Amino acid sequence: VNGDHWIGGERVSSPTTFDDHSPIDGALIAQIARGTATEADAAVTAAANAFPAWAATPRAERARLLHAIADGVEARLNDLAIVETTDNGALLRSHLRGVMPRVAHNFRFFADWLLKLGHEDFDTRGHTNHVSWDPAGVCALITPWNAPLMLATWKIAPALAAGNTVVLKPAEWTPLTASLLADITAAAGLPAGVFNVVQGYGAEAGAALVADPRVRRISFTGSVPTARHIAAAAAANLTPLSLELGGKSPLLVFADADLDLAADLAVEQYDNAGQVCLAGTRLLVEESVAADFTARFVKRAAALKQGDPREADTDLGPNIHPVHLERVDGFVQRALADGAQALIGGGPNTDLGGLYYRPTLITDAAADSEIVNEEVFGPVLTLQTFTGDDQAVAMANATRFGLAATVVTGSAERAERISAQLVAGTVWVNCFFVRDLQAPFGGSRQSGVGREGGTWSFDFYCDLKNTVSAPWAK
Ligand code: NAD
Repeated sequence: VNGDHWIGGERVSSPTTFDDHSPIDGALIAQIARGTATEADAAVTAAANAFPAWAATPRAERARLLHAIADGVEARLNDLAIVETTDNGALLRSHLRGVMPRVAHNFRFFADWLLKLGHEDFDTRGHTNHVSWDPAGVCALITPWNAPLMLATWKIAPALAAGNTVVLKPAEWTPLTASLLADITAAAGLPAGVFNVVQGYGAEAGAALVADPRVRRISFTGSVPTARHIAAAAAANLTPLSLELGGKSPLLVFADADLDLAADLAVEQYDNAGQVCLAGTRLLVEESVAADFTARFVKRAAALKQGDPREADTDLGPNIHPVHLERVDGFVQRALADGAQALIGGGPNTDLGGLYYRPTLITDAAADSEIVNEEVFGPVLTLQTFTGDDQAVAMANATRFGLAATVVTGSAERAERISAQLVAGTVWVNCFFVRDLQAPFGGSRQSGVGREGGTWSFDFYCDLKNTVSAPWAK
């Protein structure tokens, strides 16, 4: 895979590169161009130059090109899946069956949504109000490593559909599928400069990109500390921004729940080695069923197969990077030193070595402890118990995050009442991770700013305009 930038429809190198290693076995897999302000500037220039023609391209033609990109993704599905797995260590079978088809769907969905996007004209004392979604300009998109192409295309597709041009800065730990996507967009016939990729570190290429006053939208998915830097840069130019950040989401198990379903859903929170922003990492279980639930959970967790993510029967792959693994383990060791217990796991998987961390369940942690309140972003869950609905809600809402929540209960009335009180961008009842692109997506509190999805994506990526016309003489 080409490790250079993609700027104005051409490969562009940098004077220096950095190494990209696979989390599966540490192998060196690519040399990546280390972008700086120079390349960020060149990419924004290319995107700004391409903007007027792309913005003026009829909606139907933009939609056709997005479908052509989706076709290209589907044609290279196997390549994309294996490259992503090699680069970020997530399961090959989920890339093949779920993630990469979804990448194609991201383009198709926003292409189709664009064609039906509209608002009925309305009348004010004989004057017609006409609402339009005008392209905004150059969009800087900054993405994380945990679901690289999936999260990038969830931004790229609506940004391009809206008539904007794009500069993507993928995460430095997972730069490869963005590079493949550049080839796919070119093969699909997307005009040069409409889509650009700048590789590099956040503090270098990323920071330069978001500080550029020509950028008219910033969409960022990543951590809260980085979001503060980006929001500060955006403030200087008053660049509108959308922030999809971290979480510490609760998974609530009520005494009336189907405990097998609850245990199944709880074990799912280890997916992607726990590196999922939406993961319900705080298991909040009603006291009266806690022992029963825990026994069912532990049995399922013990059956998870940890190993090479390319093998079809693997459930849990490696974590992304040695620096990240150390961070994950730091949270766990501090919790244990503070008196919490590891009911399962509690450290790296020494049988496998490398970046594999044992699925861990922490109990007996204080309500105000770090492990209960901070995002670990590894296969580490905590378990706390509650008595009664009021305490459940209070505990669920007790962190500074508000990304998602899962409610497991046998009562429709309770589900409705509890969901209404939860602070979260998404609430799942007796299910997890069911995601429709027409739904608003985002986080409350420090889990994010703004919502994307369906028309909400176009609201963000466009400059909305209301044109008021006086009546025309007959
Ligand atoms: P991160 O914040 O470290 O990095 C994300 C991106 O920001 C990378 O591309 C990085 O290079 C770039 N970056 C870093 N500093 C920058 C700067 N000063 N200016 C511009 N760009 C900069 O996050 P990460 O570790 O890659 O991802 C994990 C985090 O992402 C977790 O907190 C997770 O919850 C969150 N996440 C959120 C969602 C969501 O939709 N809410 C989805 C996935 C991941």
